[in-house]
Parts: sequence; structure tokens; C-alpha cells
Amino acid sequence: MRFAFSMRNGYTLGIESTAHTFSFGLVDPNGEPIPSVSDTIRPTEGGIHPREAADHHVELSAELLSKLFENNGLQPSDITGVAYSQGPGMGACLRIGAAAARTIASKLDVPLIGVNHCVAHIEIGRQQCGCDDPILLYVSGGNTQVIARLDGRYRVLGETLDIGIGNMLDKFARNHGLPFPGGPQIEKAALKWIEENPNPTIEGLELPYAVHGMDLTFSGILTAANKLVEKGNPFEAVCWSLQEHAFAACIEVAERALAHTGKSEVLLGGGVACNERLRNMSEIMCEERSASSHCPPKMYCIDNGTMIAMLGWLELNSGRITTPQQSGVDQEMRTDHTPVIWA
Ligand code: AMP
Ligand code: MG
Repeated sequence: MRFAFSMRNGYTLGIESTAHTFSFGLVDPNGEPIPSVSDTIRPTEGGIHPREAADHHVELSAELLSKLFENNGLQPSDITGVAYSQGPGMGACLRIGAAAARTIASKLDVPLIGVNHCVAHIEIGRQQCGCDDPILLYVSGGNTQVIARLDGRYRVLGETLDIGIGNMLDKFARNHGLPFPGGPQIEKAALKWIEENPNPTIEGLELPYAVHGMDLTFSGILTAANKLVEKGNPFEAVCWSLQEHAFAACIEVAERALAHTGKSEVLLGGGVACNERLRNMSEIMCEERSASSHCPPKMYCIDNGTMIAMLGWLELNSGRITTPQQSGVDQEMRTDHTPVIWA
């Protein structure tokens, strides 16, 4: 359905609830991002249980939203559009965000827009980094994709065939007693290893090759890394090797995507893009190919409501809205599901 509506007078609210993070963010009347207010459930043991994460989101929703208004001196009447993550993600979590969005939009009598979470990562990155037509390396907990805009859609050129790279890092950390999220702790351990061993050798720390054509696999790397620790190799050394292997594989697929498409920008997104070593590898690869590497601030790499508001603002201004009948969630929503009508 198309809707002639100008968002210029008010703020667009964005609600993110695809998995462990519940987040409310805003863009101002000109589409300028305003930092989100978020909370992430951190399971004490095991992975994320969708029902528990959904309960977490329900319990915190009023508090997070009030804080967002308070931080920015706004009132509900300043909101002229409401966006939410429609998919992909965990059904129970998505439904909480969608229900909150429907309630707020109908109470305020403003348009509602369900957006594609993966596309939101791309658009906040383009806005923040000023890049035009990048290859996106989207590396998060549940997703690992290499994406390019072709014929009016963001197409997945390559992706993980098993688990997301972030889940792999979190599982490895959990297997060795480190709580969620494991990625940042693995980064610290790897850094410690190279500080103590300025010329580290990969000998004895080799892991499987994760590239399969344009796709990736991480479960073999995970099993092999666990075995290296069991065999008595220092945990920090294995963290270093794990990062080198897993990140090199992602960068290799991104490089192939640059070569195939003839594009000249790489944009990193998703929580794992907070990692300095991954950013550094992308810069080195791009420099070697006379391309440029871009990465948004960390608060916009992790899941956040602001990116949902940003994409919602773009879509609403392009005349797209979601009716209550269309506002169900889609756990399996693909990146190329959404026609890119705004860029
Ligand atoms: P997201 O799913 O996009 O919210 O991102 C969450 C994922 O990012 C989790 O798997 C984290 O372990 C991972 N992550 C966050 N910071 C880092 C980091 N510095 N290095 C590696 N992974 C990270
Ligand atoms: Mg994400």
C-alpha cells in the first residue's frame, strides 16, 4: 500500500527485537539518527531461549521507551511514524516488537512500517559512512552474509551455510567458561596473545578453511578450535587463530564480491563488525585493491532501534506503509525480499 505522507514534521521511532536485544531508537525529522536506548538479555547458561528473551523484552519495554523520550526531551506526540523489525529473527521476540509498534502507532494515529532487519544494517551503515553502493559484509550473531545491491534489491552473494559467525564465537567462548557475548572476550584474549608473542606462528594452530565458493561454514572451525584447547594449546593462542581463520574467510568472500561486481566500497555491519582485527583486515584488503573500507560506530553495528527508525523513515518517505493486516512477522525474511525503492 502506498501512502502520501511527509515525515518532515516529526520523529520516526524504531523498534528492534529480532533476538537478544530490545531497543528503541529515533531519527529526527530530517532522517538524522539519534542513539538508541537498549537492553540485551545475557543468559547465565546456554544460548538464548526465545521465550525468555521475549519475556525480557516485554518487561523492559515501558522503561526503555520512557528513557528514550526523557533523554531527548520528547513526548509521544512528537512521533510521526513507527518502524519495527519485521524479520528475520526469532518469532517470539519479533512478535513483541511488532505488537509494541502496532499499539504505539494506533494510539498515536501515525503510520506503521515493518522493515527488513538486514537491510536496516546496510542503510544505517551507508548513512553513517557516506558510502554509496558498497559490498556489505554483514557479520552478526545469527547472520553472516555478503550482500550487494543489484537490480533494485540487496542480493545475497554469499552466506554462512551453517551458523552465524557471532554464534560461533559465542559458543566457543561458552565452551570455555566465558559468558555471552563471547566475541569481545575472544578479541581481548587474541590481543593478549599477540602482545605476549609479537611474531605468532600459526603452526600447530591450523583450523579448517571456511570458504566454499561464495559461501562460508563455521561449525568445522568451532569443533577444531575446541579440540585445540582440549589438546592443551593456550586458550589465548586458539582465540587468535580462530579470529585469523574466521575473519580471513569473510574478507576473502567480500574480496571476491568486489571482483565479481566491480564495486569499490566495503561496508561492515553487525555486532562482529565491532572487532578491530576484522576492521583492520578489511582495510588491508581494500587498500590492496584500491577500494575503500567503511564501518559505522559500534553502537550502530550491534542491533539497535535507530537503524530500524532510519530504514522506516526512508520507506515511509518513499510512500510505503504496513497496514495492520500486513503487520505479521516473518522469521525467515530474506535480505532480497525488500525492493529498494528509496536509493
Ligand atoms: P548482533 O547479532 O548484530 O547484535 O551482534 C551480536 C554478536 O556480535 C555476538 O555474537 C557478539 O559476540 C558479537 N560481537 C560483539 N562485539 C564483538 C567483538 N568486538 N568481536 C567479535 N564479535 C563481537
Ligand atoms: Mg543484526
